[in-house]
Amino acid sequence: MPYLVREHLFIGNIGDAAEILQNGSHDITHILSVLSSASISFFSEWRSGLSIPSKEIRKVYAGDSGSEDASGNGSNSPLSPDKLLYSLEYAGKDLKFVRMAVPLRDMENEDLLDYLDVCLDFIEDSRKQGSVLVHCFAGVSRSAAIVAAYLMKSEQLSQEDAIESLRKSCETVCPNDGFLEQLKMFEQMGFKVDRASPIYKRFRLKVLGDSYNRGGKIDGSKFGADPGLPAEKNSTNIEASPSPAYRCKKCRRLVALQENVLDHVPGEGETCFEWYKRRSGNPLNRSSESECSSIFVEPLRWMTTVEEGALEGKLSCAHCEARLGYFNWSGIQCSCGSWITPAFQLHKSRVDISTV
Ligand SMILES: [Zn+2]
Ligand SMILES: [Zn+2]
Repeated sequence: MPYLVREHLFIGNIGDAAEILQNGSHDITHILSVLSSASISFFSEWRSGLSIPSKEIRKVYAGDSGSEDASGNGSNSPLSPDKLLYSLEYAGKDLKFVRMAVPLRDMENEDLLDYLDVCLDFIEDSRKQGSVLVHCFAGVSRSAAIVAAYLMKSEQLSQEDAIESLRKSCETVCPNDGFLEQLKMFEQMGFKVDRASPIYKRFRLKVLGDSYNRGGKIDGSKFGADPGLPAEKNSTNIEASPSPAYRCKKCRRLVALQENVLDHVPGEGETCFEWYKRRSGNPLNRSSESECSSIFVEPLRWMTTVEEGALEGKLSCAHCEARLGYFNWSGIQCSCGSWITPAFQLHKSRVDISTV
């Protein structure tokens, strides 16, 4: 039996969903399926002999304009444009249910954030028209993460409070650690998926890095816009407010804006240095090492060497070819001791800081 979480909102597993789709339900009218495949045939693969009728309403892909947010940042998601975001269909007995299906695996490195907007909107709309069941396979991780995000947004709850509140309805909920981290980011971004925020940019880079390490193709269109080229329409208006920018020291070409910089906490790896200092007994004053000698940025479209697919390589100025830094998908250690993974590093000695 599904568990009631709030009025008109239930959580359950695949068995609950199958039962309702097959036999009908007194209260549930909408179903949000979060399974590794969006196809209704997943049910008959799960239990042979089970056949659930369905009639497609629409399919939406990650690259469709409908998935872009107001700032036109839809293409900034790490999902490839031809990836199915969700399918919407009539399903079940007498085709009476509206089912939205989102393809998501229960893995820590799975990109949950990029599905939240569509899922939360569906839950909200469904509750106005009837009652919604959110289900995954076991009713423990994926559905719980999405319902928790919904509670966070609608009731302004922290990630911890939302999970705790959800456990009062259903004791067994337990989103995987990767989902919990992403829910924390959702909270830090103000209960929305803000694709312009440094939190989201760092997340996106991590997803791209995971994809690279699994042998995925590097898609240069996912990189940040080249600040050295005339602004594209719909892109951030760089003249709006003067903010720091980085230029090639040799030719003055613009290579990064402040918004491209991914800050890190200096000295996260400090203990290594402490150990090294003691053992080496180096009499030199090493205090200057706590100062970062590099900045780290998101991958940008002028970094053509990155697109060639190597694990690591030089970053050279797109205009004068002066060497500006280095990139490494496995990470680079900053002079302060922190590891940045993946890393796109510009040496402070090779760039000048100015205002745009
Ligand atoms: Zn540093
Ligand atoms: Zn240059």
